[in-house]
Amino acid sequence: MECIFCEIVKGNVKSKIVHEDEVSLAFLDINPRTKGMTIVIPKQHYEKFDENFELSARIFLSASIVAEKIKQALNPREILFSIIPSELVKHFHIRIYPVFDEFPLTETKPLIVSEEELESIAGKVRSVRIELKEEKKEEKVEEKKEGKKRSEEEVYWIRRDFEIP
Ligand SMILES: [Zn+2]
Repeated sequence: MECIFCEIVKGNVKSKIVHEDEVSLAFLDINPRTKGMTIVIPKQHYEKFDENFELSARIFLSASIVAEKIKQALNPREILFSIIPSELVKHFHIRIYPVFDEFPLTETKPLIVSEEELESIAGKVRSVRIELKEEKKEEKVEEKKEGKKRSEEEVYWIRRDFEIP
C-alpha cells in the first residue's frame, strides 16, 4: 500500500468521515490522543504545505470548519491543532484535538476507543452544518444581479458589503 490517506480518499480503506468537500476530507483518528481527534487532508497527495500552498490554504479553511463542527458536537473545553510531519504517512495533514481534561502531549498514549463509540462521535460531528459568511455573500451577489450581468469589479465590492446599484 503506497499511502494510507490516498487509500482512504479512494474509499479502499474504511474511515469515520466527519467532513468532506471537493478538495478535502476529514476523518477520525482510530488511535486518538483525545476522543474526537480528527485528521484533515487534501484529497490530492502531496507532503509539505508549500508544495501546493493555495490548496493548503483550503485545507486550513476545512480544518477550521471541522474544528467548529467538533466544538458544536462534542463541546470540548479547548481545541488544539498540529501539523507535524509523520514518518509513516507522507501526505499533508492537519491534526485536530478536542481537549476535555488534560492537554494531550505528543508522547500521550493513544486511547482505545471502540468501533461503536468512534461511529457515534463521527455521527455527531458529521451532522453539524456550518455555513460560511462568504457563501452567503455569493448568494447576495446572485440576488442583486436580477438578470443584470455584474462586472468582476462590482462582484468584488458587493462581496465586501458595498451597495452597488
Ligand atoms: Zn497520499
